[in-house]
Formats: sequence, structure tokens, C-alpha cells
Amino acid sequence: MNTNRPRNTCDNHKAVWSDQLTELAELGLLRTLRRVDSAQGPTITVAGRQLLCFCSNNYLGLANHPHVLNAVKNAVDEWGWGAGASRLVSGHMGPHEQLESRLAAFEHMQRALVFATGYQANLAAIRGLVGKNDIVLIDKLNHASIVDAARSSGATVRVFPHLDYAKLERLLDRSGDARRRVIATDSVFSMDGDWADLPRLVELKECYDAILCIDEAHATGVLGAHGRGLAEMMGVEQHIDVVVGTLSKALGGIGGFIAASDAIVDWLVNTAGPFIYTTALPPAACAGAIAALDLVKQEPQRRQRLMSLVQRLHTALGDMRNENVPCSRSHIIPLIVGDSKEAVRLSKALEAEGLFVPAIRPPTVPNGKARLRISLCADHNDSDLDRLIVALRVHGRWA
Ligand SMILES: *Cc1c(COP(=O)(O)O)cnc(C)c1O
Repeated sequence: MNTNRPRNTCDNHKAVWSDQLTELAELGLLRTLRRVDSAQGPTITVAGRQLLCFCSNNYLGLANHPHVLNAVKNAVDEWGWGAGASRLVSGHMGPHEQLESRLAAFEHMQRALVFATGYQANLAAIRGLVGKNDIVLIDKLNHASIVDAARSSGATVRVFPHLDYAKLERLLDRSGDARRRVIATDSVFSMDGDWADLPRLVELKECYDAILCIDEAHATGVLGAHGRGLAEMMGVEQHIDVVVGTLSKALGGIGGFIAASDAIVDWLVNTAGPFIYTTALPPAACAGAIAALDLVKQEPQRRQRLMSLVQRLHTALGDMRNENVPCSRSHIIPLIVGDSKEAVRLSKALEAEGLFVPAIRPPTVPNGKARLRISLCADHNDSDLDRLIVALRVHGRWA
């Protein structure tokens, strides 16, 4: 037998994939990987050039912060690299327990449960809360992980138009037969940067005896006086049943978590596939997240700095009078371009000026809503932001 034979046995079908890829390219929808040759930070190296990075979720600059790196290095020395098994077998180690108690205390919830990614945390949360005979109500623009979770939960899925809580109320009104009702939503929407109206959702959940599950992926560490997220900022934390968060955005690492009651967490430990059938997070990743939580607590100036940069950018965009900038006070700032090819062209023009802002295209966003999605980092300095603003003035359709 020729052991050098390539393993690719699908070669005879190659034309199918390449035709489909050509089609994507013609629509301006082809995605390709761009290699970054540096650590994450306000500046990254791409194709041998230093570019200002205006697209990362590393909002607080913790992905490469010395306090976090030290914690990770020390944990690797003490605990090694891999967890070796799932949590319920032999993968549950000291750093997992420590991180979960830190997260529970941080969130003011009874318990927290950590997952390998935020994606898995959403899968677990929603599939754990609902099943057959239940109904899950989701916002049209929720993150893909919430949509995937709802669709695979076995429950009836009802999608309401983005932030249309009158429609949500009508759906709740007609949900009388359901055993359980769960409302699941992003708190900060990942591609538009706008916010769920959490006080209104709390009213609705109370009125209809529903469970409210919010995904604070983009808000954890960023919003609220203590960085707990939008629910803290809006003063409704005590009414939220389940919080999903991620360790991979403002906290700069990898992993996701659920914060909820003892009973819900115990239920998930016993039933959640994304918890049971996968290897535990590396212990050093837990140590890194703990160190990141230290910084969220001890250095509120990081989120304040981020927000002051965000304010400056919003003011500058307002001055450009671009009606395509939705009124958002958020740290996620979409510049809606519409056409995918045009979005790619703009992104390339910005890259030529030394600014990295990839185009976000369907199916990540709805058809006809391609955009540049700008995000800032607390470590950007004023002149970094000036460069972005000047380039947007020159290249934007809003010049
Ligand atoms: C990024 C994101 C997730 C997934 O988090 P990961 O840790 O990257 O898997 C979940 N929900 C929302 C709203 C997100 O933006």
C-alpha cells in the first residue's frame, strides 16, 4: 500500500466546493483567513505591517497583560497544560473551582459554571432550561450560539423582530400551553452594539412567569460601575435568572460561563452535553481568567478609558452626520455599508492607511446590511483614534 497517498478522498467532488466558493466570491461573500503575526493588542502585525486593530473584542487589553500572563505561566508550572478529561471524570481541578467561586461572587449569583467557550455556555444554558413542551423566545439578532441552542433544544422556538417587545408580549400571551417559557437575549448585540431593554424584559418575564436568560458576552468587564454588565448598568441584576458570559472578550482569554442558582447549576452539571461530553478548560486558562477578574475589579480606569474613547468616536461620527451610524452609545460601533463588496472595498482602503477593520458580511449580519464593525481597546491612545477618525472622514461615504 502506498502510504504517501494523500488522504483527501473527496477530490472527485472538488468541483462542487469550488463552484460554491466561486459563487460566494462573486457575491463578495468569500471569507479568507488573515494571519496575525503578533500578540493581540491595540496594534497587531499583519502581512509584515503594523496595523491599528479596531475589530478585536479584547476591549480592556487583557489578552496580553503582564498580570494575566504571569498567572497563566505560574499555573502552567503548577498544574500543567491539559485537564486530561471532562470535569465529571478527572478534569475538575483547583483552578476550575476557584474561578467558579470568583465568578459567582463577581456576579452576585449563588453559583457559576465554566465552559470551554461562551458558545458552549449558551448551548448548555438554553438546552438545560427548555425542552419538549417548553417555549423559548429569542430576538432575531441574537448571537448564533443562542439561535443554535434554541433550535436544538427540542422546545418550540419563537423569534421576535429585533427589540420588538410588543411582539414578544403577544407571543408570550399565546404561550399558555407551554410548560416553561424562557426569554433569551444578548444584552449588548454583538454586531450592532445596541442594548436590550432589560427593565422591560424583566416586566414581561414577571408578568408571564417566564425565565430570563441574558448573554452578557460583550458587556462583562465593560459595562456597569463594577463591570458586571448591562444588567448592573440598568439596575435589574436581581431579576435576571441566568447570566451567560464569556472569558474570551473583555477578559482576554478563552472560556464561557453561566451564573445562576444552585439548582440550575446542579441541573446543568447533571444534564448539559456541552459540560459533560467535553474536556475541561485548561487549568491555566482558569488562572488567567481569575487574574483578569482581578484587573476588572482593581482597575476600573480601564473601562472608563474605553468609554471615553468610545464617546470621542461617537461624537466624531455624529459630526460626520452619517445616518447609517445607529444611535448607539456602545463600544461596538457598526458602520452600515449595505453592499458586501463595498464593505470589503472600504475595509481594504482603511487597511492601506494602516487600520485593521474587516468587513462583516452575511450571514453574520442580514442580507444588505454588510458593515464595518469598529471596536476599541482601552489601550488605544488618542492619536490612534485620531487616525481612525481621519481615515473614516476620507474614505467613508459620509465624508
Ligand atoms: C462571542 C459571543 C459568544 C461566544 O463566546 P465565545 O467565548 O467566543 O465562544 C456568545 N454570545 C455572544 C453574544 C457573543 O458575542
